[in-house]
Amino acid sequence: MTENSANTPPQTPTQPPIRVRIAPSPTGDPHVGTAYIGLINFIYARQRGGQFVLRIEDTDRARFVATSEQMIFDALHWLGLTWDEGPDVGGPYGPYRQSERTAIYREYVEILLKNGTAYRAFEDAEELEALRQRQIAAKLPPRYDGAHRSLTQQQIDAYRAEGRPYVIRLKVPEGSTTFRDELRGDITFEHSNVDDQVLMKSDGFPTYHLANVVDDYLMRITDVIRAEEWISSTPKHVLLYQAFGWPTPRFWHMPLLRNLDKSKISKRKNPVSLVYYRETGFLPQAVINFLGLMGGGMPSPTPVEVVNGAKESEIFSLDEMVQKFEVPNIRLGGPVFDLTKLKWLNSEYLRALTPDAFFTALRSTVLSDDYLRNISTLIQTRVETLGQFGDLTAFLLKDNILPPPEVWVPKKRTPEETLLFAADQLALLETTEWTHEAMELVLKQLGEEKSWSVKENFMLLRAIVSGSTMSPPLLESMVVFGKARTLDRLRRFQDTQKKLAHK
Ligand code: GLU
Repeated sequence: MTENSANTPPQTPTQPPIRVRIAPSPTGDPHVGTAYIGLINFIYARQRGGQFVLRIEDTDRARFVATSEQMIFDALHWLGLTWDEGPDVGGPYGPYRQSERTAIYREYVEILLKNGTAYRAFEDAEELEALRQRQIAAKLPPRYDGAHRSLTQQQIDAYRAEGRPYVIRLKVPEGSTTFRDELRGDITFEHSNVDDQVLMKSDGFPTYHLANVVDDYLMRITDVIRAEEWISSTPKHVLLYQAFGWPTPRFWHMPLLRNLDKSKISKRKNPVSLVYYRETGFLPQAVINFLGLMGGGMPSPTPVEVVNGAKESEIFSLDEMVQKFEVPNIRLGGPVFDLTKLKWLNSEYLRALTPDAFFTALRSTVLSDDYLRNISTLIQTRVETLGQFGDLTAFLLKDNILPPPEVWVPKKRTPEETLLFAADQLALLETTEWTHEAMELVLKQLGEEKSWSVKENFMLLRAIVSGSTMSPPLLESMVVFGKARTLDRLRRFQDTQKKLAHK
């Protein structure tokens, strides 16, 4: 057994300047978890006179969403987070978008092929599936068996001459890897649990592991501060640093944010899109303050500071966090993302505004000119007097809608099947482009598949979105209301009905 001990940063007399990064993947709406990890990296860099880098990890083309990158920038800026280097601001170690760095990854994976720490594997999807089935039948954990590790040069040449596609895999040695997590101490992974990772896919795109390590090295990242869910990737990364002969950065894995029931935070139980929080009128100061409370990096309040149940010392600005937050003090017990607490905090911030500032906040969010203009186009041909504006549009100004069963269950359907159909509508809309045409198409297809008439289909959706059987044109209204808020309304509906059913 060999012991690969990695991690303690090189002890040079002059430590390199601190450089940290966040590396979000543009796969959808910007997530509260990205803001949380962004906040910690931002604080860590600012406290140490370091640099904070934003890198876009967009190599997973199947999950790529074109609008996502700009939404990530906007959401982080909204929260007051700024970065020193990134795709939008440039910097000395660019490009900062992985899709623009594919030539670099090809160059680096060659080094591994040459020094024998990686190899080409030519199995196609069918062969890998057959292997998986054999392993499942033999009650073995399904994993790549390393068959092509030992191909001869002739076999490799023959496959290549045939033009057979291949992936490049990391040759994981026997033994174990130990690395130090700055919050947890030493962590050891037995290699028997680590697959020969694919580093380069057959389309020439790198996987997360290869691109992440090459970039962290080339961008001179000293501290990798990321979410706990990446811990199991770290031994693979450490092996890669070793294969290249590079020193490892320090690793910090932050505790995952959790739902009230302690499960990993999920959109089913909490809104997780930062767009949702912005559009429903949370103040950025409250959201960033709330994220700063997660995990105990700020000094604990003393009992004297607890006034009327509200802990005054729980209210602080980003600047105060930069002054007082201690990343090494973060506790590992999963911090709970408690929406009730966030609302309390938001109310504190709202109350502290002057009446003018409060009005300005309203006019720049839930009552912005743009929003009101979009709503007004929905109803112009449907009112007899301007005073009816409120009657027709209240559902677009409300936070919550709870339609009674007689409104949402179609006459010929049971509540159970209706709820299932609504769940299908939701699942579809989650991955649909937010335009009238795209939504109409997928909803109609769903109706045909499940034998729901167009009328039943749209009445149900109308009921959930507007709370009533009458509303301005439904899909146009959903476009105006926005994807984040509409989807959240559909999710809350599911959640509420399930809770009611269990009562
Ligand atoms: N692209 C990964 C993500 O989406 C980055 C993880 C890391 O920080 O290494 O979070």
